[in-house]
Amino acid sequence: MVYKGFIPQLSHSGWVNTMAKVSVNKELCIACGVCWALAPDVFELDPATGKTKIKPPYLTKDTESVSEGSLPDNIVETTKNAASSCPTGAISVE
Ligand code: SF4
Repeated sequence: MVYKGFIPQLSHSGWVNTMAKVSVNKELCIACGVCWALAPDVFELDPATGKTKIKPPYLTKDTESVSEGSLPDNIVETTKNAASSCPTGAISVE
């Protein structure tokens, strides 16, 4: 398995970029599937809870109420698009 998303990237100034954080509030998720369709590399249905969770290798934390992950630069825009399309505002990207 290749974890290309976790390869540190250098900016023009030489500083290592920090990765964006994504969070799903499971209490707000209605399992509509929009985020799974728009960002299938990042989001999936957790059959155990019937809610969205972040997929490996981006997943960093998963509890009953929240799923969190770290995103490489190349999928941040796709993830933000999914977040803005979530009908309940359950997804945040920062
Ligand atoms: Fe849940 Fe929002 Fe994803 Fe729909 S778009 S499955 S409500 S997190």
